[in-house]
This record gives sequence, structure tokens and C-alpha cells, in this order.
Amino acid sequence: MKRLVLLGVLIGVGALSLAAAQPPAAPAGPRVIDIQKLKDNLYVLTSSTPGNPATFSGGNVAVFITDGGVTLVDTKLNGWGQAVLDKIKGVTDKPVTRIINTHTHGDHTGNNGFFGANVEIIAHENTKANMQKMDAFKGDNAKFLPGKTYQDKMSLGSGKDKIDLYYFGKGHTSGDTFVVFPALRILHTGDMWAWKDAPLCDRNNGGSCVDFPRTLQKVIAGIKNVDTVIPGHSPIQTPKDLQEYQRFTADMLSHATNELKAGKSVDEAFASFKIDKYPGYKNERVKAAIQAVYDELKK
Ligand SMILES: [Zn+2]
Repeated sequence: MKRLVLLGVLIGVGALSLAAAQPPAAPAGPRVIDIQKLKDNLYVLTSSTPGNPATFSGGNVAVFITDGGVTLVDTKLNGWGQAVLDKIKGVTDKPVTRIINTHTHGDHTGNNGFFGANVEIIAHENTKANMQKMDAFKGDNAKFLPGKTYQDKMSLGSGKDKIDLYYFGKGHTSGDTFVVFPALRILHTGDMWAWKDAPLCDRNNGGSCVDFPRTLQKVIAGIKNVDTVIPGHSPIQTPKDLQEYQRFTADMLSHATNELKAGKSVDEAFASFKIDKYPGYKNERVKAAIQAVYDELKK
């Protein structure tokens, strides 16, 4: 049941409406977020692995300290804002001035409101449209929607403070942003690479498991000069790991496509998918992803 609730949170709209209608469930213990230093001016707020609702705070947040203030990539689950702020205060006196939401889900946008209406909020235009459907951003809370959007690419700031935002197409949702800190050679993928397991393709928010590998291929071709990758939920990785993930998603797509053509059921396709080719990978989400491919291709 706990697992179902958590999946619901990740899945989006339905669960998010629910979360907005009720106060967030109080975790059993104190709300503790871990912090990892990648550079003097870039930290990651972790405690981001779904599984234990008492400790899961939402996706990995990048804390980028610029001359003009702190930029956050994502804002974790609603109710965790103070814990996020406490960690930021431990590493800088500067205020949070800018939020980049990688995509619409509540475990990445849940504390936009906590940081206030004076903070600049930026996302891909499709993500803004997806967020507008969420109860959490209706009525008065519409002021916590992104005030700035882009289509294909946008750069913010310059020199050591520069941030590049890229959009490469559908995948986890219809509006996933890849955030690059060029001076630091670091990439935040959001949930286009959440974990070493099949992706969640949120078709209610325009996601596509069929487009997923192609979108990741564009990322690999289009984003160079990076040597550290911050995934949406997993520990820090390298570009080589991201390339492996792209191959995994492509492999899964072609397997599902072939099995569908051969008249196999989703259960059969799941049973015959060989996860052991990918060391360290789990297959907890593979069946759902194969189902998503079937649903998309059968349409
Ligand atoms: Zn997500």
C-alpha cells in the first residue's frame, strides 16, 4: 500500500490533486535531508530515493550559488520546504532567487510556494501547461507557476553563473528540462533519468516511452563538456552511465515492440526482458514501461 501511494505521488495529476486536497502525511520522524557538495558553489539535496515515505523528500535538488542569489533546480515534495531551506542556510547566506522546475510532478515542484512569489520560476512551456492542471497551482497559487518559459533552449546568467536549459522532446513528461552548469561541467537530468530501472512515462502529462530513447539520444549528442550527472532521484553518475541508460531504454523499447508484433502479452514481454545485461539495474518498473509502450503503439 505504501508503495502504491508513493507511485501515485510520482505518477502525477491524480495523486497530486489528492495531495493538494489533504495536508501532506506527516513523516514518522524528523524531516531530514542530506546534502552533498559537488563544487564550492553547487550542492545536491538528496534523500531522494522513493521507497520509504518517512524519508523520501522528493527529487534531487541542485543548489547553485551565484553572485545574484541561489538557484534551485526543483523543490521537492510539499511540506519539505523548511528542511530544504535549512540545508541551504548551512552553506550560504544568500537568498533563493530563482527556481527551475525540471518537470511538473509534485516531488519536483512541491515547494515552489514555500519560496514565495518573488522568486523567479522557470520551466519548459509544456511543463507550465502541465502544472496549470494541478490543484496545487490553481486559484491564488497560480502565482507560483513558472513566470518564464522557453521552447528549445534558454541560457540564464553568464560566466561562472551561467545556466543552460535544454528541451529535447517527450519522455518522462512532455516538458522535461535538462539543466547544465557549463562552468562546472555538471548536468541535472530531472526524471529523464531518475534511477537505474525503467523510466516512468507519464502519458497523462504527455510522456512517451516510445520517444524516450530518442530524446535521450539527442541529449547525448547535444550536451557535451559535462563530466558529472545529477539524476532525478539516484546518486551522482557520469555521462558514460547516462549513455548506458539510453541503451537500456532503447533496448527495452525494441524488445517491447518486437514482443507486441509477435503477439506476446505484456507479462510475457516482461518475463523475457533480460535485465542482467545491465549491472546494478532493477526491474521493478520494467513491466509498467512495457505496458506504456504497448498502449502507445496500439493506439
Ligand atoms: Zn517525475
